[in-house]
Amino acid sequence: MPLEEYAAKRHFEQTPEPPPGKKSKSAANPYFCVQRHDATRLHYDFRLEIDGVLKSWAVPKGPSLDPAVKHFAAHVEDHPIDYGGFEGNIPAGNYGAGSVMLWDRGSFQLLGDASGAEQIARGDLKFHLNGEKLKGDFALVHMKGRSKGNEWLLIKKRDDFASSGWDVEEHAYSVLSGRTQEEIARNLPARKTKLKTAGAADRVWHSNRPPKAAASKAAPAAVKSTPRKKKRTLTSGA
Ligand code: MN
Repeated sequence: MPLEEYAAKRHFEQTPEPPPGKKSKSAANPYFCVQRHDATRLHYDFRLEIDGVLKSWAVPKGPSLDPAVKHFAAHVEDHPIDYGGFEGNIPAGNYGAGSVMLWDRGSFQLLGDASGAEQIARGDLKFHLNGEKLKGDFALVHMKGRSKGNEWLLIKKRDDFASSGWDVEEHAYSVLSGRTQEEIARNLPARKTKLKTAGAADRVWHSNRPPKAAASKAAPAAVKSTPRKKKRTLTSGA
């Protein structure tokens, strides 16, 4: 039961995260997503649909389109397919408490003839991403001989999508709602027009002098009047 660890860590009456559900129907066009998770430490959760679950890696520095960087990726517990559409807030006191942004999503294709399970078992998983932000060939490579056994590296391969100096923090907006991490944490409504680059807006937001557009959206009355169940509405928006 690959989702036992996922379920054991969570109390589904306390968190808007989805409980383990039914498996996906087809793996012909498997799903991938990346969630930007502002928990104890900010990290990116990288997930690939393989064998009916989301195989998952926590990447502290996030993915990159720069082939020169190899970012550490901790292999973590499988997540249910439904988790791939989740965006919202995990309440304080719960596992992973903090805001979760659906940072990227799309489909992927495994590269080579070996199955996903075989590639994970051999510690060398190669795939092509068709995301909104991440595109092209990538590899996840297991660092053998390390102490914990869950240490991998996420690496962009050199191809037409590779981009030297690419900065993940210049793309810090939700592909689901267009919101910044701060806006998700405050339960502010989805933006009508998606941000092109939210990095700059994010920094302004933190400066106590939000731009006019952001200020009007951040009216305290709007925050207070947001019904609690809004959280759940947002989580199912994929
Ligand atoms: Mn996480």
